[in-house]
Amino acid sequence: RPAQPAVHRIAVIPGDGIGREVVPEGLRSVRRAAEIFGIELESEQFDFASVDYWQQHGTMLPDDWFEVLRGFDAIFFGAVGWPAVVPDHVSLWGSLIQFRRRFDQYVNLRPVRLLPGVPAPLADRAPGDIDFVVVRENTEGEYSSIGGRIFDGTDRETVVQETVMTRTGVDRIVDFAFQLAQRRGGHLTSATKSNGISITMPYWDERVAALAENYPDITVDKFHIDILAAHFVLHPDWFDVVVASNLFGDILSDLGPACTGTIGVAPSGNINPTGEFPSLFEPVHGSAPDIAGRGIANPIGQIWAGSLMLDHLGHPEAAAAIVAAVERVLDRGDLRTPDLGGTASCEELGTAIAEAIAK
Ligand code: ATP
Ligand code: MG
Repeated sequence: RPAQPAVHRIAVIPGDGIGREVVPEGLRSVRRAAEIFGIELESEQFDFASVDYWQQHGTMLPDDWFEVLRGFDAIFFGAVGWPAVVPDHVSLWGSLIQFRRRFDQYVNLRPVRLLPGVPAPLADRAPGDIDFVVVRENTEGEYSSIGGRIFDGTDRETVVQETVMTRTGVDRIVDFAFQLAQRRGGHLTSATKSNGISITMPYWDERVAALAENYPDITVDKFHIDILAAHFVLHPDWFDVVVASNLFGDILSDLGPACTGTIGVAPSGNINPTGEFPSLFEPVHGSAPDIAGRGIANPIGQIWAGSLMLDHLGHPEAAAAIVAAVERVLDRGDLRTPDLGGTASCEELGTAIAEAIAK
């Protein structure tokens, strides 16, 4: 990881709906952790990447957004979208997808960790049992637009879509996953399907095996995606870092968090590990128009995204302290937002978590 500057500059983009409610709570915990751990942060807030901005300007982003944002060390993002006014494909493609592409955020990171007292399909497991990370390749693979259809409208109609894997693309995601495994439990699992997808997936396996030579201390295993999905549910304690292609990672990065929590608690990182461009940290959930404006959104997804951001900026202790505070407050059991079966407000839960952060 590249050397980090003394002062981290954070671009804050609340976006739409509950993004504006949870981002201040995420910042509250990030700032508190920064204070306790002696981390210098500067932040600047932007009103673009929102439907309000679109209504005023007819675009989601200003023309110079790339130059404006590229100087920041990270982007702390809420949620974008308000389908009653702008279709999601316009708001999403006009903002988040542009960031992801232009800043080459080729890693999508999704932690999977059972939090105390959060209703979830696997909630009866011991909390320490489930603690892993899904690393998804986010730029190539199965989601290429290469292909086409012929004999349209006839009974010979034929449709083809190609998977694209490049050595650069596969190596950089797998290498990121190995490095993460090195910082965590020393165990990497690769998602494959080389028994059915007979050209690209054997190549994926080949590159994982080649890179494994650089990491002799890491235990590496691989599973076909079908049985891997079953193991996520049946044996979540088997995993530490799981690396997957774009499509498989897409599926696993929804499955994992769904096993251990509700949508309001899950975070995500869109990362460019080179540090050449800023990485973006956001909750998994969207703008939730159905509950926006009522102050009842769960801030934990955003707060946990703040933890991922501090970790990425080179402060793992501060990052861990935020997650520990979330767990401490949830464990106490008296403060829960309505999605967790309580009556607390977004601000009450967010404030309690920030206050619970300790060295
Ligand atoms: P996308 O974000 O992919 O467009 P969406 O708009 O359908 O999907 P969300 O905005 O995440 O998804 O909302 C899905 C449901 O989850 C809604 O009923 C919403 O109220 C609820 N929800 C989402 N985030 C939270 C949260 N932080 N706290 C409480 N409930 C939430
Ligand atoms: Mg939405």
